Amino acid sequence: MSERAAIVIIGSGFAGLGMAIQLKRHGFHDFVVLEKSEALGGTWHDNTYPGCACDVPSHMYSFSFELNPGWSRMFAPQPEIRSYMERTADKYRVREHIRFNSTVDALEYDDKAKHWNVTLADGTVFTPKAVISGIGALHVPSYPDLPGMETFKGKAFHSADWDHSYDLRGKRVAVIGTGASAIQFVPQIAKQVDELVLFQRTPPWIQPKPDRTFPRPVRRAFEKVPGAARAFRSGIYWTLEARAIGFTIDPRLSGPMERLARWHIQRQISDPELRAKVTPDYTIGCKRVLLSNDYYPALARPNVEVETAGVAEVREHSIVTGDGREHEVDAIIYGTGFKVTDVLNDQTIVGRNGLKIQELWANGIEAYRGTSYPGFPNFFTLLGPNTGLGHNSVVFMIEVQIQHVLSCLKLLQDTGGDAIEPKPAALRSFNDRMHKRLRKAVWSEGGCQSWYLDENGVNRTLWPGHTFEFWAGSRKAKPEDYLITR
Ligand code: NAP
Repeated sequence: MSERAAIVIIGSGFAGLGMAIQLKRHGFHDFVVLEKSEALGGTWHDNTYPGCACDVPSHMYSFSFELNPGWSRMFAPQPEIRSYMERTADKYRVREHIRFNSTVDALEYDDKAKHWNVTLADGTVFTPKAVISGIGALHVPSYPDLPGMETFKGKAFHSADWDHSYDLRGKRVAVIGTGASAIQFVPQIAKQVDELVLFQRTPPWIQPKPDRTFPRPVRRAFEKVPGAARAFRSGIYWTLEARAIGFTIDPRLSGPMERLARWHIQRQISDPELRAKVTPDYTIGCKRVLLSNDYYPALARPNVEVETAGVAEVREHSIVTGDGREHEVDAIIYGTGFKVTDVLNDQTIVGRNGLKIQELWANGIEAYRGTSYPGFPNFFTLLGPNTGLGHNSVVFMIEVQIQHVLSCLKLLQDTGGDAIEPKPAALRSFNDRMHKRLRKAVWSEGGCQSWYLDENGVNRTLWPGHTFEFWAGSRKAKPEDYLITR
């Protein structure tokens, strides 16, 4: 079955939603949004674990064109973010463009017909002129490969696939992982469970979370006082940008951040043994810096044990550690993150002359400004390679990329072209300059392993500088960097 739409957007998270809205605002109405799930929101639909909230202030983690003066607190919880996205989709009338339960299996460019064949899992084929992928990086749960995992007879689930029907009260629970997700749900479940064993491989650096509710008068001021919400957002933006200095220029400049994190441990944990366990031995910023006021107090509870000996084996009702101790548990919760590079590499994307995206990526995943690819006409990615951030809101990066895509589509319109793609030389010089900076940044030099780096230790996920640099260089497509064919 073949269906038509001039433009296909994949995904309805912040990226897909923002793209859809801006297409409409710029007069492009012939498009469809393909969403694999039954609802919109992307990661903010999938992740519903207890305590799930944004770790970037919400006034910044939202669209610049749709400020929300009504955020209930500095770091809004997941249901509030999701309802912001739902409201925004309705306000800009993009919901009618979304086709739910539509998993994309393959993208193949037809050189002769000059369109893409977008094949869905149900066999439907769309034939758009342009494809914009907003699939994000963090949506396929990653499970560790632990010996005996499949023999476990208790309950097991991943943080991104939380089983709310399972009552944790009175249970002995193992949590594996201590990343951004785990530090949010551990304090919530520690209050309910009988015993919690937290398997920590690498402790994260954690700073106090400057969270607070916004009382009604403050919310009213954001709503009624012209420029108040915008000024508050700008204040957050520049405060967060200051963090990039240490991450990208010289990690020694992050000294004050590290001292604050050490002080946080001292203040919240009195047991010297536990303090030692949770103190990282790598430079702050190498892994995502986390924010929490209730994680350390949760670890200090008498029913919580932090296990650092590593998992040697999973048995039917227990987990055995590297030093031979056996922890009997009723449930295992995996807070083990997401498959990032595998998911990108597993895609079927075939461009001009049968070129597979994996061939373009033979030496590593890369894009021109995270957005476009030589040999893949009219194909764009939002939050593509090296557009993630360790210091500010990715919604900002998404909006810059949306502007970039719009300017490409305008170039096509203005020149009467059929197809636009970046020149190979533009891809090369952009990535060479960027990777030169990345090699010296804390994510490579800070002495840690993280999902930011590929198997060769090359950072394929983060932007190495200030976000305004990305904005300055990327919001408009430079015609000299692009090839337009008619
Ligand atoms: P993550 O940061 O990748 O953390 C995964 C955790 O699992 C790490 O502690 C990791 O240890 C551990 N782990 C993985 N494999 C393991 C194994 N085989 N044995 C033992 N431990 C293992 O995943 P996440 O916490 O889901 O967060 C992913 C990303 O989502 C974050 O970086 C962030 O960008 C985003 N996020 C954002 C928010 C928000 O509020 N905006 C909230 C949650 C998540 P190692 O450190 O040793 O690898």
